[in-house]
Amino acid sequence: MDKKQADKKREFARFISKSEPGPGDGGRTGSWRVARPVIDLEKCIPAKKGRPACFKCWAFCPDGVVTKTVPPEIDYEYCKGCGICASECPVCAITMMAETDFAKKKAG
Ligand code: SF4
Ligand code: SF4
Repeated sequence: MDKKQADKKREFARFISKSEPGPGDGGRTGSWRVARPVIDLEKCIPAKKGRPACFKCWAFCPDGVVTKTVPPEIDYEYCKGCGICASECPVCAITMMAETDFAKKKAG
């Protein structure tokens, strides 16, 4: 590969996008989410151990709305309720709660 081709390749490489989700990429959830993930901190590994661990929910959330903190937190402004985090959690610490049940619980 000559220098010109190498430069071209380098230039091209710069523009290859790395698809990383960011909060809000899909827009605010609004009122259409039908279920919300709720983390049980009694089961969540980092919450139990008090140190960074696991974070599969953070890694798999397609909208990047789970924090990589102890304990992890979910931004419900943007969470669309897909349930991937609940499916990926190795200790079943995340439950998908119907929004209607959540609203009833909130209302008391
Ligand atoms: S995947 Fe489950 S155990 Fe792991 S950090 Fe998330 S909620 Fe906690
Ligand atoms: S339900 Fe989907 S969008 Fe919401 S936190 Fe879990 S993986 Fe992310």
